[in-house]
Amino acid sequence: MRIFVTGGAGFIGSALVRHLIENTEYEVLNFDKLTYAGALSTVERVAQSNRYRFVQGDICDADAVRAAIAEFQPDVITHLAAESHVDRSIDGPGAFIQTNVVGTYTMLAEARGYWQGLEGEAKAQFRFHHISTDEVYGSLGEDGLFTEDTPYDPRSPYSASKAGSDHLVSAWGHTFGLPVLITNCSNNYGPYHFPEKLVPLMIAKALDGEPLPVYGKGDQVRDWLFVEDHVRALQAVFERGELGRTYNVGGFNEKQNIEVVHTICGILDRLRPRADGKPYATQITSVADRPGHDKRYAIDATRIEQELGWRPEETFETGIEKTVRWYLDNEAWWRPIVKRGAAQRRGVAA
Ligand code: NAD
Repeated sequence: MRIFVTGGAGFIGSALVRHLIENTEYEVLNFDKLTYAGALSTVERVAQSNRYRFVQGDICDADAVRAAIAEFQPDVITHLAAESHVDRSIDGPGAFIQTNVVGTYTMLAEARGYWQGLEGEAKAQFRFHHISTDEVYGSLGEDGLFTEDTPYDPRSPYSASKAGSDHLVSAWGHTFGLPVLITNCSNNYGPYHFPEKLVPLMIAKALDGEPLPVYGKGDQVRDWLFVEDHVRALQAVFERGELGRTYNVGGFNEKQNIEVVHTICGILDRLRPRADGKPYATQITSVADRPGHDKRYAIDATRIEQELGWRPEETFETGIEKTVRWYLDNEAWWRPIVKRGAAQRRGVAA
């Protein structure tokens, strides 16, 4: 099969590209604009494969998308390209509407044109798989889980833009018959995570002796999924998922943010103790909470588990240990990004 991956130079997209090249015989086209969040270093180890291709392009550029699809003739389009950072969506929502809503519309329009031109087996096999987030469901209280039937209630510009894109995908399925699949996933963590997100940010700041900024009391609850478990779920869904269906993907690992930070500090204390012997947790500092910060997200992943036989292989404890070790072993990958990212964030604030 030929798999067209948008956003394949980002965190989850690159994990999918690496997984497909290393564990299947599929051909993969990585279509990515290479924004601040994308880097070809994430796919360097598979870039020499003759089953891998890269096209630098913008999902909002219909001509570029059409040309890449026509040339590659995909069996599956997995759509991951997005603006993905909630804090940035509060600083500047426009880019989120453009990429996540207009970009997804462009992908759907071009996928539809291509699919209409297919015939027979190729037409029957084609799938458009949209990758989304559990944040579209809003916030939970102490109890309950998000199921595929939970009404949408997005709270941030990011989640609202992803909700909009999900609705467009459903509409293209219902109205035009485009063979679509949607997955809504919880918080991912793992190697090659851009160091502005909670887990890598805490590791980087801890190692540099900087304060570890935790929003409010750090009592927000998220479900955590190791990125390599997520990409196995994506493969299960585009290979065997029922067309038109949504699948929630979760890690069965609810943690408060503060627990995540303490776990990271504990692993670092063991693997690379501070020079002064004090625990890394002494660097934790509370900062003013994010506006509209959702309290709790938790996923019911029963459908994908029962219908497609997928379950995460990592627990939070095993996955976070692998992740911290990866960041310790790969400083050459993330240090230049931290430097560049810090400069960009100062620019935003000014
Ligand atoms: P990311 O920010 O790490 O990567 C996004 C990638 O998309 C980058 O490589 C970037 O260059 C590319 N991109 C951005 N705008 C583009 C455009 N206009 N045209 C082409 N490429 C463009 O994001 P991620 O964390 O890997 O998330 C991937 C997808 O998964 C997103 O759709 C996100 O909403 C969803 N998701 C993420 C998480 C998570 O925890 N990270 C959880 C659930 C769902």
